This record gives sequence, structure tokens and C-alpha cells, in this order.
Amino acid sequence: MDGHRGGWIEIIAGGMFSGKSEELIRRLRRSVIARQRVQVFKPIIDDRFASDEVVTRDERRLKAYAVATSAELLSRVEIGVQVVGIDEVQFFDAGVVDVCMQLADAGIRVIAAGLDQDYMRRPFGPMPALLAVAEEVAKMHAVCVRCRGAAHYSQRLSGGNAQVEVGDSSYEARCRACFERYTAAPEEEPAVQLTMPQPQPV
Ligand SMILES: [Zn+2]
Repeated sequence: MDGHRGGWIEIIAGGMFSGKSEELIRRLRRSVIARQRVQVFKPIIDDRFASDEVVTRDERRLKAYAVATSAELLSRVEIGVQVVGIDEVQFFDAGVVDVCMQLADAGIRVIAAGLDQDYMRRPFGPMPALLAVAEEVAKMHAVCVRCRGAAHYSQRLSGGNAQVEVGDSSYEARCRACFERYTAAPEEEPAVQLTMPQPQPV
């Protein structure tokens, strides 16, 4: 985890409410404390993601650069950076896999957090390839709202059938036994907004 030297890729995967972003922040904070040069990126999904977010440790702040594409992410990595954090990596284009590989090959530690599956339990975007190439994978679990077991799935509760969806209370964590296949109510319009759990204040 922190004992490696040089570049590598670690992925923090799991469903919604599983603490992926918090774990990403925890690892990044450790790197900051170790006085490594850290940069953090996240995809621009909608207006809520356009503003830069910060990871704070005491007075120190880490800006999360919102970027539109994996190519833009690569172009914004500064010379001398030792650790690159990526949040919501599942929303990036497929090129993010090569970008992570390039960064790791260049000696950078890449730590990326993302949803491994969508609401239909389909592998999400570039996540399968990222899980394959990563040196280390952490699977995070939420607590199933039904049975309090370890939840691996993001159960959609309302909204349409788009892969990227809807409002604050539209999902809950469910385990395999409690997961139910979602069918959109016919009267509902397909929605395009997105709400993801926000990183906890540090
Ligand atoms: Zn359950």
C-alpha cells in the first residue's frame, strides 16, 4: 500500500455509499503528510462537478481539477507530481486506462476510485480494464439497507433507465440477496441529472 516504490496503479472500487471517495482522500492525505507532490482529478459530469473541490488537511488544501476527458487529465499533470488521485473514474472515457498506465510507467502512483458496476450490475465504463491493469484493487462495501449485510450494489429506487441518473434519494446500498432488478416506471421521463455521494469533510 505505502511500501511500494515508483509508479503503480491502485483502484478503490465499490458501489455507492461504500466510502470510496473517503478512502481515496485518506490515501491522498497520507501522501500529502509524507510531503509527496499530489494532484487530484475528477470528471466534469454536470455543473455540480464543475467547481473544484478541495481535500483539506489542516490549512493545506488539495484542489480537485475537474477535467472533461482523459486526455485533458494527462495534459494537466504537472511536472514533478508523484501521486495522482482520480475520483469518479468510472465516468471517464476508455482512454483513462492508457492514461493511468502512462502515468504509472512514468513513476507516478495512481490512486483511482470509482463505481465498479451500474444500477443493473453491469461493469461500469473503464472500470473492468482498470481493475485488470491495477497492481492493487480494494473492493469497498456499503451496509445493505435491508439486512445490514455487506452491500456490493447500488439499488436504483426511482428514475429512468439511463446508466447515469437522478436525484439524492434515488439509490440505496443492497447486498446480493436483497438486490432487485430495477424497472423504470413508465410515466417517468428519462432523467439526466446525477447525484453521487460527496466526499466527507476532512
Ligand atoms: Zn441485504
